[in-house]
Amino acid sequence: MLRKLLDSSWLYFGLAGLLLAVAVASQIRFAPPGRPSGEVADISKLGEGEPWNVVFIVIDMLRADRLSAYGYERGTSPTLAALADSGIRFEAVEAQSSWTKASMASLWTGMYPERTGIQRFFHAMPEQAVLPAELFKDRGYRTAGIWRNGWVANNFGFGQGFDLYIRPRVNRPEHGIIRNTPGVSGLPGTDMDATLSAIEFLSGARDDPFFLYVHYMDVHQYLYTDLSPDYGSSFSDIYDSSIFWTDYNVGQIVQALRDLEIADRTLIVVVSDHGEAFFEHGQEGHARMLYREVLDTPWIIALPFELDPGIVVRQRVANVDVWPTLLDMLDMPPLPGAEGQSVLPLVLDAAAGNDDGESDRPIFAQLDRSWGQVEADSNPTLTMVKGPYRLMQWLKNPARTELFDRSEDPKEQVNIAVREPELVDALKAEVEAFLAKPKSEWAEAPEIELDEMRINQLRALGYAIEGPNRKRKRGDDAAEDAAPEAGEAPAP
Ligand SMILES: [Zn+2]
Repeated sequence: MLRKLLDSSWLYFGLAGLLLAVAVASQIRFAPPGRPSGEVADISKLGEGEPWNVVFIVIDMLRADRLSAYGYERGTSPTLAALADSGIRFEAVEAQSSWTKASMASLWTGMYPERTGIQRFFHAMPEQAVLPAELFKDRGYRTAGIWRNGWVANNFGFGQGFDLYIRPRVNRPEHGIIRNTPGVSGLPGTDMDATLSAIEFLSGARDDPFFLYVHYMDVHQYLYTDLSPDYGSSFSDIYDSSIFWTDYNVGQIVQALRDLEIADRTLIVVVSDHGEAFFEHGQEGHARMLYREVLDTPWIIALPFELDPGIVVRQRVANVDVWPTLLDMLDMPPLPGAEGQSVLPLVLDAAAGNDDGESDRPIFAQLDRSWGQVEADSNPTLTMVKGPYRLMQWLKNPARTELFDRSEDPKEQVNIAVREPELVDALKAEVEAFLAKPKSEWAEAPEIELDEMRINQLRALGYAIEGPNRKRKRGDDAAEDAAPEAGEAPAP
């Protein structure tokens, strides 16, 4: 009988099946837990109960239209697409400047650059400004900022409220083949340095509520590794390869949250400070103009639970809305003086199918074109989007105005200002009303001390040079938009 049994092939099939079942079961048991599925109604309940963790990721210089999550034909951003598909994606987001420091000041305060007063490179955020990290700290959160763009360094006032506020240690050789792009000034290290620092922080903070801000720079630096697809050799192609690499970094943070079993306790928010031009209006780079290619940025919120389907908000919103919205969701105190608004009602409307994308709300962005010139007079430009229109103004030259009808001309190529004088006047009146509002109490921006040594350092980096007519070459923006630390050796 026993012999017969041992001879039977069924025994071996049975044993193999049993082993397989055990293997599958153990896989299930040991796989790190992700997020449970949730309902739209759960979004309104986020303010209840235990405080949620927040991971806030800024991908510097990221255009929304280059993300697969936003319909781009190249698969540049699988991680962001997955987060958006099970969370909230804002289809149309306007950044408040095309220059990092001005834009970040608006993002953190919910105020337009006109109100923060932070528009030139010697401007710094004063202590009176209230930033989200301070609100989290007041609530007992552990707070950490890990950044690679010197414009958000401590000396410009952006470290307020953070227990830990650091540029990550450079760890380069461990991350595969690094592809530096010729003509773009090299920041030391890569975004993986920020990712590894972030994961280190998460490992230590997993038992407390925490707020983690990570500011990535490799898209800005046109840097990627052999993990990225090779899309080609133009700046535009390399830009896409860099996005893929940075998306991979975001994926590592997402995975760490799962491994630490806190994915279901954590919100992940991804935004950008501005985009990048590829000759759509005759120039490349950013921090020079205010057209759509430098202002249309992404905003994705991944919740501690997965929605199926995710929510897409079509109505235009602004970066100044980001923190009013998140604080509203988390039932935390609002930012004092914020001009942005909580768009949580729009999210719920969109989820209910009541979002036709139409909006008559004016949204502004500003750039002082002299931001990097120590001795030049202020040269402010301002743009307002309202309904289908974008108005562009050079405030010191009122005769120079541009108007675009984006319903017919989504790429803002045809200036219809001459054809539509009445419309221009009506829109200009709105801009004047906007400019007439008082600045924030603290906005007569304190200027950081610029001694001769520092000015020379800045000159050595290729920006902060007198006179507007300096010949520009590719890579200037990279130098301009990556501020040095005091005492840091000048980059090439
Ligand atoms: Zn930037």
